[in-house]
Amino acid sequence: MPIAGACPYFVKDKGDGYVYCECARFRFPDKKARRDIIYTYCAHPDGYKECVIKKVMDQYYERKYNGEQTAQHKYAG
Ligand code: SF4
Repeated sequence: MPIAGACPYFVKDKGDGYVYCECARFRFPDKKARRDIIYTYCAHPDGYKECVIKKVMDQYYERKYNGEQTAQHKYAG
């Protein structure tokens, strides 16, 4: 059964064995592994904050937006 994610990087769970995150597409070895990850991180209201992939994505967007600001300042002045 598809679930809704709490994490801002969660994209979709089509219920076909794959879970789509903005960073990756996951295919779990069995239903228990899927439940353990999804309900501990992706769909947990606080748990997603502890996900290492979420932390990597936060850093990615921080680099991206800081880089854009730096580039804007460079070309503005
Ligand atoms: S909790 Fe982690 S794995 Fe799940 S959607 Fe967020 S970043 Fe992706």
